[in-house]
Parts: sequence; structure tokens; C-alpha cells
Amino acid sequence: MKTIFEKSNGIDGINLTDNVENIDFLPASFIKDSAVGLPQVSELEVMRHYKELSDLNFCIEKGFYPLGSCTMKYNPKVNEFLSSLEGFNLHPHVEDSMAQGSLKLMYNLQEALLKITGMDAITLQPSAGAHGEMTGMMIIKKYFDSIGEDRKKVIIPDSAHGTNPASAKMAGFDIVEIKSNSKGQVDIDALKAVLDKDVAAIMMTNPNTLGIFEEGVKEISDLMHENGSLLYYDGANFNAIMGYTNPKLMGFDVVHLNLHKTFSTPHGGGGPGAGPVAVVEKLKEFLPTPVIAFDGKQYYRNYNLKNSIGSVKDFYGNFSVLVRAYSYILMMGKNLKHASENAVLNANYLKEKLKNYYDLPYDEPCMHEFVITGERQKHENGVSTLNIAKALMDGNTHPPTVYFPLIVHEAIMIEPTESETKEKMDEFVETMISIAKEAKTNPEQILSAPHTTPVKKIDEVTAARHPDLNYIS
Ligand SMILES: *Cc1c(COP(=O)(O)O)cnc(C)c1O
Repeated sequence: MKTIFEKSNGIDGINLTDNVENIDFLPASFIKDSAVGLPQVSELEVMRHYKELSDLNFCIEKGFYPLGSCTMKYNPKVNEFLSSLEGFNLHPHVEDSMAQGSLKLMYNLQEALLKITGMDAITLQPSAGAHGEMTGMMIIKKYFDSIGEDRKKVIIPDSAHGTNPASAKMAGFDIVEIKSNSKGQVDIDALKAVLDKDVAAIMMTNPNTLGIFEEGVKEISDLMHENGSLLYYDGANFNAIMGYTNPKLMGFDVVHLNLHKTFSTPHGGGGPGAGPVAVVEKLKEFLPTPVIAFDGKQYYRNYNLKNSIGSVKDFYGNFSVLVRAYSYILMMGKNLKHASENAVLNANYLKEKLKNYYDLPYDEPCMHEFVITGERQKHENGVSTLNIAKALMDGNTHPPTVYFPLIVHEAIMIEPTESETKEKMDEFVETMISIAKEAKTNPEQILSAPHTTPVKKIDEVTAARHPDLNYIS
């Protein structure tokens, strides 16, 4: 009998071929007849290898990470411990009666997020912000189907995150872009000009991606509702407003949150995340199933929603992200408000410190983030925003978000979050000032940056034209 182990030497005294099924069905070419070429290394060597790799990486634990819009705040390590508790390690197919603890946590998190957003019903299923957006737009689509209206258009401001138009398009809508005004806010006249009975919704984030609060939000929501349209709130910037206001008060009908941004899950590198979607009462029946419910005795997964768009994620969603968000909310309690307060204070502090050295496209008080432009450096010294971002890496700082939002040339978008100390921010200011000075006196130093990172300057053009997408080259 040919078995998987027959051709290996086995281990003295142990018969590795016992209980192994016959594998005659495997094509001969699939069966190895020589040892697998794995390196023979000790545990210590393996450990050193991975530690060395991890040292090459940049992370929030290593330095300042002001990546605008991404909210790279510090995520308390106790959340990691809690999310890995053995009791949460359930088989996804266990019955609800055997998953009461996990379901209760999800139910309580739903309740907490409903309080924080002011909304009426919620799903925890979507696994990212963009996934939440698509879920929300599908809900809006189905709502209009249910009332027999075939509205095709979704309005999106030109400052929006790129996922907004992508999600609306994926849900089957046509996109109508509207311009921002000179204050970096939605131009209400431009909105009125495109508003007709074919408009299903507007997608907005508030504060918007310029870090500016949309003062006209109530007027906008009234206009939309009068027109029979709905409002979608991209909650990725929620870190700016927690406890101060909420999307319901602003007049929104659907909102997603990025638990991995505002509610403390380490992110970057692609996940995992969670993008719960909350809705007003009249959209409750359209949520994806199951939603987590409580009948007074038992927590259970409720599949019984009349107009549900169906399921958008298997099993319990990204459950460990939900655990982290729940423990973060419980730990913070009323201090969630202070997190937003400090995030806004820190951003305004940095903006004021930097504004004599870099130009501000909108010199307004900002919320939790702000945008500067490297245009002056580009035109006067030939140093672009990309060069500035790379020079920052030499200052033990992750580059900010660059070239976004698209409406600002040479944009540099900075979000310090609430986690940083004044000392750390002052260090960042010093680095930014010395880059601005060096751009004038010694631009070559900035143009050839970074100098101290494990990988130095890369050939961007070749990387873009001939990407090597293999894991093993
Ligand atoms: C991050 C972000 C998104 C998308 O969220 P993901 O979780 O990355 O899919 C959408 N809008 C804004 C404003 C964001 O910052």
C-alpha cells in the first residue's frame, strides 16, 4: 500500500503508516520520492529570523504614524489578550444555545454602537469600511425597489474617499460628483443643481476628508429628505465626533463605522477589520441577516427580516475585531468623548505649528486631521510631496497620507490621533521644519531620501510598470 508516509524514514518505534488512508488515487506525479527541501534550522534560528524581519517593519509601537484618514491610534494590548480568550474560540457551526457568551457580546456591542451613532438598528457583518459602504448602498437600493421607485443616481462630493463611488457603482448606481466650495465643504448650490427625483442618495463623511466639519449638513439632509432621497454617512472619520454629535442628529439614514480605525483594532496591511452598518427605523427590515437578537432569555441569530438584502459575510463576521471594539468601548466609557477631543486638539496643534512652513489649502479650524500642500516646495525647490514623505521615514515617522484628497495638489494629510504626546508631536514638527529648510538649502538630501530605512530609494517607475507580484521569485 502506497501511503503518504511510506516513503519517508519515519521515526523509530512509531509506525507512521498506521491509520493513514490509501492514496492510490493520487497521480504519481504528485507523490514525492525525495525529502522536501526545507532548511534544517533550530527554533532559536527561526525565532531570530522572524524577529529580524519584524524589526524591518514600521509600526505604531515603533514611531509616529500620522496616516491621515486611517486613524492609526494606539490599540491597547489588553484587547489582544481578551480577543484570544479560549471561550471565544468557537466552532462556527455551534448552535446558538452553546454560543451565548459570544452572542451576548455581539448584542451588547450592537447596543453600544447604536447609542454612539444614534441609529435604530445595526448589522455587525461587514468586514471593512468599503464592505459596509456596499452593504449600505445595497440596502438603499432595495429600499427604493420596495417602494416602487427606480432611482439611479448617487451624489458624491469630490473630496470623498475613493471607496464611496466604487461601492455605489458596485451596488448598481450611477455616480454624480459635486464640487467642494472655497471652504472645503460641499457646495450646496452645486448640490441643488443636480438634485432631482432620480437621486437615491448622497454619500458624505463628516468631518470630510479635508478634516473639515460640514457646517451645511443639516441643510443638506433637509434638502435630500424633501426630495425623497437618503443620506449615507461614511463613518471612517468618526474618531473626530464621538460623544459630541452623531450621524442621526445630522440627518443621516445609513452609516458605517470602521471598528479597526475608531474602535481600536490594529490595521494596515489589509485587515482584518469590521465595518458595522447602522440604519434608521424605516431601513431596519433591509439589513443583512442574521442580526443578533435577544428574546429576554436567549441571544440568537435572527434570520427573519422581511426585506433583507441577504447575508454579506459568513458566520459571526470578523468576531475578534468585535471583541476588541467592545472591550475598548467598555474601558473608555464616557472618555470616548475625550478621545475625540484630544484627537481634534492634537490635529489643530500640529496644523498651527506647521502652517508657517507649508501652505494650507484651507486655513480653517480642523477636526481630527488636516491637509497641507507641498506645492510651495515643489515649485520653489523641486521637492515633491512624495520626496517629503520619504524624507520623513528617515525621521522614524511613517509618511502621512499623500496625494489624497484628490482636490488638493501635492496633498499631505496628517492625523496625529489622540494617542500621541506633545513631545512626540513636537519631534514631528521639528522633522517637518527641517525638511522644509533642507528642501531650500540642500534639496538633493530630500530628493535622495530615504537614507536610513532597510530598503533605500526604490525605482517607482519600474515597480509600477513591471510589478513583480510573486511571493517567491
Ligand atoms: C478608510 C476609509 C474608508 C474605507 O475603509 P476600509 O475599512 O479601508 O475599507 C472609507 N472612507 C474613508 C474616509 C476612509 O478613511
